[in-house]
Amino acid sequence: MSLLELRDVKVVYQRRDGTLVPAVAGASLDVDAGEIVGLVGETGCGKSSLAKAAVGLVPVAAGTVTFDGRPVHVLGRRARRASERRLQLVFQNPYESINPRRTVGAQVADAFAISHTLPRESWRARVDELLRRVGLPLNLARRFPHQLSGGQRQRIAIARALAADPAMIVLDEPLSALDSSVQAQVANLLVDLARDLHVGMLLISHDLAIVRHVAHRTAVMYLGVIVETAPTAGLWRKPMHPYTQALIDAVPHADGAGHLPVALSGEIPDPARPPSGCRFHPRCPHVMERCLSDVPELVKHGGDRQVACWLHEEPVAARPADDLRRVSR
Ligand code: SF4
Repeated sequence: MSLLELRDVKVVYQRRDGTLVPAVAGASLDVDAGEIVGLVGETGCGKSSLAKAAVGLVPVAAGTVTFDGRPVHVLGRRARRASERRLQLVFQNPYESINPRRTVGAQVADAFAISHTLPRESWRARVDELLRRVGLPLNLARRFPHQLSGGQRQRIAIARALAADPAMIVLDEPLSALDSSVQAQVANLLVDLARDLHVGMLLISHDLAIVRHVAHRTAVMYLGVIVETAPTAGLWRKPMHPYTQALIDAVPHADGAGHLPVALSGEIPDPARPPSGCRFHPRCPHVMERCLSDVPELVKHGGDRQVACWLHEEPVAARPADDLRRVSR
């Protein structure tokens, strides 16, 4: 059993005009302890909604969220609070979680005050330890957030998350507001923390280059559903879903030579009115007749990859019996 398990999760929002919008339309994903899983996709694909569902910030309309063996989507308030301490969220904008009027040290210490897990006389030493852990000088503890750079503020947000002694951190676009040189430093910090503290991480990002650098495994999301998951290196070497191929084609070359031709055309459709069959079919360069009507399920390919695309359907007669099992809807 994985540390975090999302199964057929659906998240539905209501627009002002009353329209129900399925932002997440049945997504399944696992994250293990010490593992970094990147969740990528265009803006509006539902990845942030899935992250919020994972930490209980939005209600789960259907499906299950299991953390550390417990179904967090149905826990009572007290049990949920205990779970939330072990399952932390870091936002894109650290100001969303940092109080501008309190010193950095006081805010990092808040986690100890809330959880009562540390005697007060030990708070100062633990704050220093956490600042050191995220690569910040100890004198920052007496400063206010406006006196820090963007990168320092994001490190403080990570230190605050670590103060709760989490088993898992969900990071929603944590690097997108930072300069590229600072992005690389904070990305390296995440890799170090996952390895050294054995913390699981779900990293939400629209930036495939960052996810390639950081994540052990990558899940690709399109219009509310996961269309491919694979170990990150294998995904880059041989993307199987046409949407994954298009996303990777659009990533700038490391040598600065610019973008490869972008195979993807058109806008992401309105999730309130998703296309029939394969949701990607209006934009897919390989679309076939059956793609217009039949929904491809996420099916296992090899030991560690799942793909939802009719291009990769194996002939039924050639498949061993245990491969016939559909992995998820
Ligand atoms: Fe393209 Fe069809 Fe595969 Fe969808 S199922 S990605 S439309 S080939």
